[in-house]
Order: sequence, then structure tokens, then C-alpha cells
Amino acid sequence: MQKVSDYFGCMVFDDRVMRARLSGKVYESLSKTISRGTTLDIGVANAVAEAMKDWAVENGATHFTHWFQPLTGITAEKHDSFITKSPDGSVIMEFSGKELIKGEPDASSFPSGGLRATFEARGYTAWDPTSYAFIKGKTLYIPTAFCSYGGQVLDKKTPLLRSMEALSHEAVRILHLFGNTSANRVVSSVGPEQEYFLITREMYEKRPDLRFTGRTLFGARPPKGQELDDHYFGAIKPTVAAFMEDLNKELWKVGILAKTEHNEVAPAQHELAPIYTTTNIATDHNQLTMDIMKSVASRHGLVCLLHEKPFAGVNGSGKHNNWSISTDDGQNLLSPGETPYENAQFLLFLCAVIKAVDDYQDLLRISVATAGNDHRLGANEAPPAVISIFLGDELSAILEALEEDREYPGTKKTVMQLGVDVLPFFNRDTTDRNRTSPFAFTGNKFEFRMVGSSDSIACANIMLNSAVADTLRIFADTLEKADDFEVSLHQLIVKTIKEHKRIIFNGNGYDDAWIQEATKKRGLLNYRTTADCIPHLMDEKNVKMLSRMKVYTLDELKSRRDINLENYTKTIIIEANTMVDMARTQIAPAIENYLSDVAKAAMNKKAIVPTLKCSYETKLIEELSYLIDEITANLERLENAICKVKGVEDIIEQSKMVRDTLIPLMSELRMPCDKAEMMTERSYWPFPVYSDLLFGVK
Ligand code: ADP
Ligand code: MG
Repeated sequence: MQKVSDYFGCMVFDDRVMRARLSGKVYESLSKTISRGTTLDIGVANAVAEAMKDWAVENGATHFTHWFQPLTGITAEKHDSFITKSPDGSVIMEFSGKELIKGEPDASSFPSGGLRATFEARGYTAWDPTSYAFIKGKTLYIPTAFCSYGGQVLDKKTPLLRSMEALSHEAVRILHLFGNTSANRVVSSVGPEQEYFLITREMYEKRPDLRFTGRTLFGARPPKGQELDDHYFGAIKPTVAAFMEDLNKELWKVGILAKTEHNEVAPAQHELAPIYTTTNIATDHNQLTMDIMKSVASRHGLVCLLHEKPFAGVNGSGKHNNWSISTDDGQNLLSPGETPYENAQFLLFLCAVIKAVDDYQDLLRISVATAGNDHRLGANEAPPAVISIFLGDELSAILEALEEDREYPGTKKTVMQLGVDVLPFFNRDTTDRNRTSPFAFTGNKFEFRMVGSSDSIACANIMLNSAVADTLRIFADTLEKADDFEVSLHQLIVKTIKEHKRIIFNGNGYDDAWIQEATKKRGLLNYRTTADCIPHLMDEKNVKMLSRMKVYTLDELKSRRDINLENYTKTIIIEANTMVDMARTQIAPAIENYLSDVAKAAMNKKAIVPTLKCSYETKLIEELSYLIDEITANLERLENAICKVKGVEDIIEQSKMVRDTLIPLMSELRMPCDKAEMMTERSYWPFPVYSDLLFGVK
């Protein structure tokens, strides 16, 4: 059997390969570009391209593609082969530095939110050397950024790289103040935990709702759901185990550090977590992971559902975004450390995160807003749509003591002063598990739990990086001017705690009382839906901060607002149309068939025994007939509403109408259908029901 270490990363043009295949000079120049962002000259690019092509061809590749992340949320690729005609009529494999650095895909079919006039179809892709190229199938994938002819950014990678740059710049300023002059860069890293469902392909194919929308739009609750919690960390079924084994192998080959896997709370739900890496590479890897999950599932007769809420009444799927920042010499800035000096620096970075999350609650909520994720956030599921930070008892008590300038029992000093013994050394276990918090401190990182399972993690990390960068800028401005660094530092920390402690909450985020307290007493935001929050992307403070950090221009922000709202509206219209179609052409006829057979049975019985009452059949026919009437009426109302929504031009108005009319009418149509499902003999029902779907994988 092959050892993992023998094939891990075998399909990646990584540092090992570069070192082995590039000349010393070229390697050095490329390394500098990767670590410091210096520009690459064409001579070096040509040499890299040549080596990359030779390596790719040796490993079976015939094509290359500039791989990018347009605003659709998924990745895009256009494949070109390496072949070039040679004068003697044969072909040779070629790949130039120019082809490596820049591509020109036709951009006209990607959403641009008005950034690119339709007559100007050209878009550019530009090589991102910080994320390694890799081979998938027979193609060399080159991670790239994507922008328009006019230079406006049309993807998710570029703003992410910009936000990392901003964060690095401001964080290094702070480190210098603490006397650390050896760190040149600070990087944000992420380990995203990916949740997903597996169901059999055979059943999936029978459900138009799953095929068209990724979730079930109908379905009564099964007799057994997740009540017993017997799936969580339970034994993995053979089909699933085979899938996971295969998946790990594929991920390892392309250098993805898939680490843990287990069953989740809901039946048929699972999780995969990789070892963390930089936010940029983690984003690329997570996109790739989702792709590979789907293709590996299909090889095993399964379908991998990445939707946030495939089944009503069953836990949805998210993507826990474990985020931290560290220096290029490996110091985690969110690790409390062992010495007082590190403690004070830690407290300042901690305060920066607290203030950033409080000031930009709206941006964090917006960064995870999609139609699918609305079924988790703000619905009856953790985490809530209200953003708060969980710090755990010990850290909270330390902040409280600092704020009130009094003794903290864990320290030796009588009055808290920074710089000496402020924090006891504490290990990771001091922050207990809190599964309901949207933003939890977990020892040396924050876990942002609001990201949806199908979403790119780019947006969440763009907002996190930018908000923290801007806060560090404010801190650095203050501290650089200070006469006495220690005194100013202390004051700054105390002031930040005072002003932003409202965002800290260690209790149960699922509790209704918390939502009341959060919104009424603490004034925290509660944007329950995508339609509620997205327009706030354009709030003045947000536009100012994001342009100050050079992450988005005003036009780029507008385009994101429009695209997000459009996505929301389109997604729900597709769902509504699918419901109408299924109710009319599958559900109603199925009930009719059943009714007619029940009626026939009653008549047959009466023919034999004329005095029979046939009350069972009578009652069933009566109830199901009423349900069919209700279905028909609700169906028509939904259809009319769809027409009306489509006629609205203003995108914000349209999204509100979707929220206020379409979504409620969809639930109204679903209700009688689900009731009828429970009364109809199973063989008449036109598609697999919840218990088949959830317990179908062996
Ligand atoms: P826990 O089980 O306490 O949540 P894990 O070690 O399982 O912690 O980590 C969960 C995820 O967080 C993994 O993807 C892991 O790689 C990631 N992670 C750990 N440390 C960091 C860090 N410093 N920065 C970013 N992510 C991290
Ligand atoms: Mg976790």
C-alpha cells in the first residue's frame, strides 16, 4: 500500500518541485515574489512556465487553465492545451511566461454588477503566485485573480489579497511598537470546517427540488430525526467510509491538508476539517475541496449536498471559519503567550478584534448572507443572526478586572497594570465549548461560525481582515503618538473594553431572551435575512473603511451589493417555480390517483356489503380532497406572486418583496403538501420522502 507521505502533494507545483526544477536565481526571484509580493519579470516567468509545463506534462497533463473565482461563488476555468504546431507538421508542448502571467477569458457571462459594460467583454486573469498551481485530471490549474478591462475587480481573490495586505501593514506597525522589529509580515490564517450531507444518487435524481435548488422544498418530518443525537461522532457507515477514504486521497494529492472527519449531529451529515493555512490558500483549497467532494461522491453512487439547509427540521450545514493572525516568524498573535510582555500585546490584538467585530457587525453578517444561509441564521437554529463574541469565563473576568482597575484573582499583583503579570498563563482548555456563539475565542484563534456551507470563505475573511486592519490602524495612530507607551496602552485597552464590551456574551446564543437583550438593551444588530442586511453594505462607514483599507472601491462595492441581492432573488424565484411545478405535476396528481383508488375500494366493498359505512375511506377522501383544494389555491397565489416579483425593477424593492411575499407563500404551499404526504400510501408518493433520503445510505 502506498504511504500518504509518498503521494501527498504529488500533483502540486510546490516549493519542493520549484527548488528541484528551477535554477537558483529563478527560484530565489520567485520565492521573493511569493513571500514579499514583489513583481516578477518576464524572463523569470518564462523559466517558471517552462518548468511548470514540463512537470505537468510528465504528470499526464495536456491542458492548462487559469482558475479563478468570479462573483458567482463557484470557480471558473477555461482549458487550453499546451500543443503548438511545429514546422515539420508535428506538435510540441509549449507554455510561455506570458500565458502563465495573464489570460483573457471572455468575461461577458460572469456577473459584474454593472462594472463591465456588455460591449466590453474582455476580462483579465492574473497569476497569483502565492497559491500553488496543481494538476486535476489532465489539466494544470493556475490560481488567478480576475478583473475587467478597466481594472475593476470581478472576483473574490483580489479583495482577499488586498485585505491580507492591509492587515499585515497595520499589524506590523503595532509589533514595531512592542519592539518586535524582526517580523516583516503578518498573515491571517484559516482552517474552515466543512459540513455536508451525503444521500444516494438514485434518490437524488428522483427529486426535482434537490436537482434544481440543492434543497428539499417539500417533505414531512420523518418519525426519527436527530432527537437521539446518535449520529454525532457515531460509527461511519461503509459507503461513507469508502467515500471519505477516496476523498482524502484526492485532497492529499493536490496538497490539501484534510485532517479530521466525523459524523455530524444530523443523520447523513458529516464534516471535514483541514489543517489551517493562509486565508488566501485556504479559500482556494476550500473551493477545490467542495468540487472534489462532489465528484468523489458521484463515483460512489452518492450526492454531496452542500446547501445550508437541505432538510427542514434537521440541522443545517455551516462552515466554521477558524481565523487567526500570526507573524512571518511564526508567532500567533492571538495566543495569550507565557510572558507578561506577550500578554499585553495579546490583549491589544484581542481588543482590536473585539472592537472590529462590534463596529462592523453588519459587514460580518453581510459577508455570509445568502438565501440558503437565511435558513440557519435568524431561523430557529444556532448561530443566531445577532453577532456576539464568546470569550469564556476566564478571559472575560480578566477584561472586567482591567476595566474596573481591580485585582484579578489569578494574578499576583494587587492592582492591574499592564506589562507585569497581567495574565496568568492559560492553556486552551480555559475557553470552554460554546456551540451557540457566532464568534467564539477558542484558545488561540476565533471561530466564526456563521459562514454557510456552500459559500466561499473569501467574503467572511475579507471583512474580518479589513475590519481588524482598520482597527489596528486606529490603535497604531494613537500609540505612535504617545509620550508614555505603557500608560497609553493601558488606557487604550481599558477604553476599548468599556466601549465594546456589549458585544461580549458567554451565554446561550440560541436563547430567545438573549435576542431580546442583545437588540433591546445592548443595541446589537439583528438582520434576519439577506434582504435586510445587504443594502447596508453601502452604509457610509462601511464604504469609507473598505476604501480606506484599499480593499474595495465604491463601484466594486455597489456591484457586490447588486449581485448579492440578485442572487438572493433569483435563487428564491427558482425555488418558488420548482415548487409550483412539483405541486402541480407531481404532488396533486399523486394524491388524485390515491383518492381514486381509495374511492374504488370503497365502492367495491359496498357492492358486496351494501350496509357498510366505509367511514375510513370517506374521511380520507374528504380530508385529502380539502388538501388538494388548498394546494391548488396556494399554488395559484404563489404563481401570481412570482409574476409580480419578476415585474419589479428596483433590486432592493424586489428583494424585499421576495422576503415578504414569496417566502411566506412558499411555506403556505408546502404545508398542505406535507400533510397530504403523511396521509397518502407511500407507493403513490412521487418521490423519496425524508426517511428514505436521510437513512438511505448504507
Ligand atoms: P477545535 O477542535 O478546538 O476547534 P482544532 O484543532 O480541531 O480545534 O481546529 C479546528 C480548525 O481550526 C482546524 O481546521 C485547525 O487547523 C484550525 N486552526 C487551529 N489553529 C489555528 C490557527 N492558529 N489559525 C487558524 N486556524 C487554526
Ligand atoms: Mg470547531
